[in-house]
Amino acid sequence: MNDADAPREFAFELALCAHLEETTEWVLSRQLGAAVDRSGRRIVDVVGVVPGPDFEERARITDRSIPVRAIESGVGAGEAVSRYRALRESWRLREEVVERAIDVGFFERERRKGREYLRRTTRYPDGWFEGLVGIENKPDLGDPGALSRQLRTDVSLGLFEEVVLATESHVTRAHLNRIPRAVGVWRFDPETGRKEVIRESTSLSTESAGVELVEERPLRTDVAIVGTDEKARARRRIAERAYGKGWRTYDFPACAHASATADGRPYCAQFECVVEPSRACGSECTGYAPGSPPEVAADEHRDSRTSWRRDPPGVVRRQTGLDRFG
Ligand code: SF4
Repeated sequence: MNDADAPREFAFELALCAHLEETTEWVLSRQLGAAVDRSGRRIVDVVGVVPGPDFEERARITDRSIPVRAIESGVGAGEAVSRYRALRESWRLREEVVERAIDVGFFERERRKGREYLRRTTRYPDGWFEGLVGIENKPDLGDPGALSRQLRTDVSLGLFEEVVLATESHVTRAHLNRIPRAVGVWRFDPETGRKEVIRESTSLSTESAGVELVEERPLRTDVAIVGTDEKARARRRIAERAYGKGWRTYDFPACAHASATADGRPYCAQFECVVEPSRACGSECTGYAPGSPPEVAADEHRDSRTSWRRDPPGVVRRQTGLDRFG
C-alpha cells in the first residue's frame, strides 16, 4: 500500500454505493462527468438514477449506454433512412456514433440496392428515469478542498433533482453553514454501512434554465446560462452513462492477498481493508505477493442486486429477406 488518503475516499465511495444498491432502487454509477459546457469539467462522485415507469422498456434494449447523439438524431423507428442522408442531416450524428448505436442494438441497418439504410429498433423510452441524485463524497470535512464551490455549482446548474454531501466526519453547524442550503447531508460509516441523514436535501428544479460556472479566475468568474433543452440532453447523457457504466469499474490486482467482498469490492487480506487497486496495488506495495487476480463477475453482482438487466435479448427486428436486395 503506498497512498494513505486516497484509499479512504475510494473505500468510502464503494461502501456507499454498496449501501445504496441494497437500500434503494437506483441505478448507481461513480465518477461521471456532470457539466454541460464540458462534461469532464465536473466529475460527480456518485450518481443515482431513479427509475421511471418506462424502465423495463429501456432495460430490454441493451445493458450498455445508448449514445445520446443517436437518440437525438433524425433516424426514427418508422421508415429507414439512408445512412448517407442521416449523417448529412443530423449534425450530431457521426460514423462512430452510428456504429455504436448498431452495436448496442438501438439502430439496425438494412441494405437495399447496394445502399445502407438505418432505422431505430425501437422508440427511446424517455420516461425510463424520473430523477437524478448527485452525491459528493467528502469523508473528511477537515479537508474540504473545493467542496463548497462544487456544491454551489451543482445547485445553480440544477442537473440533479437532489444534491447530497456524504461524509464520515462529525458534521458541525459551521460545516452546514458553508454548504448551500439545498444540499442534503448524510453521515455514513463505511465500516458498518450505517447512514444518518443530518439534513434533507431540497428538491431542485431541473426543468428551468440553470447557471453553470465555466471558469473562475482572480477577480472574475465566467458563467454560462444553460437552457432547458441543453439540460435535458445533459441529464439523459448522465443517465445513459450511469446505466452502462455502473460502479464496479475497477480491475482486481494479481496479488495473492486480494479477494472480493460479497458485494464485489476489492479487499486486501494483508492490510485488512478495501483497497483501490490502481493506486494501492502492484510490485511497489510492501505486502505484494504475486498471484492470480480473484475472479469477480461484476455484471452478475449488478444483475442480481439491481433492476439493471445483463445481456437482455434486445429489440432488433429480424428483417429477414431485406439483404436479398443488396
Ligand atoms: S492486495 Fe496485495 S498489492 Fe494490493 S494492497 Fe494488498 S498486499 Fe498490496
